[in-house]
Amino acid sequence: MKGQDSFQRFLFEELGIRGEWVRLQDSWQEAKQYQRLTDTVQEQLGQALAAVVLLSATIKFDGSLILQAQGTGALKTLLAQSTYDRKIRGLARCDGEVTNGLLSEMMGEGRLVITIQPKKGEPYQGIVSLEGDKLADVIIRYFLQSEQLETQVWLFANETHAAGLLLQELPAQENFKADWERISTLASTVTKDEMLNLDSEEILYRLFNEEKVKLFDAEPVVFECSCSRKKIESTLVAMGREELEGILQEVSLIDIACEFCGKKYSFDNVDVENMLSGQPLEKPSQTHH
Ligand SMILES: [Zn+2]
Repeated sequence: MKGQDSFQRFLFEELGIRGEWVRLQDSWQEAKQYQRLTDTVQEQLGQALAAVVLLSATIKFDGSLILQAQGTGALKTLLAQSTYDRKIRGLARCDGEVTNGLLSEMMGEGRLVITIQPKKGEPYQGIVSLEGDKLADVIIRYFLQSEQLETQVWLFANETHAAGLLLQELPAQENFKADWERISTLASTVTKDEMLNLDSEEILYRLFNEEKVKLFDAEPVVFECSCSRKKIESTLVAMGREELEGILQEVSLIDIACEFCGKKYSFDNVDVENMLSGQPLEKPSQTHH
């Protein structure tokens, strides 16, 4: 089907306003299939995944962007990650039942950390408090704080789709206010139903049919997890020898499933000994008794 799992930029050339649109279907299904989430929590995770795609559009190098919201509420963690070429994954963690409500009620007090992680070089981190009715409010504050640019964001998700829309002023605009007001007022009439069910051309036509909008080519979004045995090993090593040996007295294998993609990794006592003694980790040894 046309327009599924894709990201598109658009531009109001004469007004100095840029836009981004994203809608996820298959990648959204894959991203949540290894987690048991209620509808309420799913809706938040879907919004976080749509948001991370919109945010990652600013990365112009090999790397990834991580959105992590952490709070004191029943919805403890929302984590979403996108690489610069839009491979996404995400998870939600809860502590008790999450009652549908405002973001600040579901997540409590906390913060949203946006990390831009280049493959080579230092990460950049931006932090905003979780205050706001919706995740989109927090993202808007992040943009205002980090880029000092007027931004509007709309995020929606249901069981089958997740979608997002972003408008942002281009830097150094003059006589900008009236155009910005008009375009963001038009955009704010968008409904959840439209965003989750229509493709980009239909949405833009419905919202801005009297404006001149340039729509760029669609770019695909896919679900892909970057987990590896090596990364799981370093998490295990961080637990320490005592803890690991304790576990291995109870069970013969430490089985770990990746929270994002469900992939299973097993470690026996030989693997654990190799890890702790800093041996090469590539091949779990069979001759090392
Ligand atoms: Zn994984």
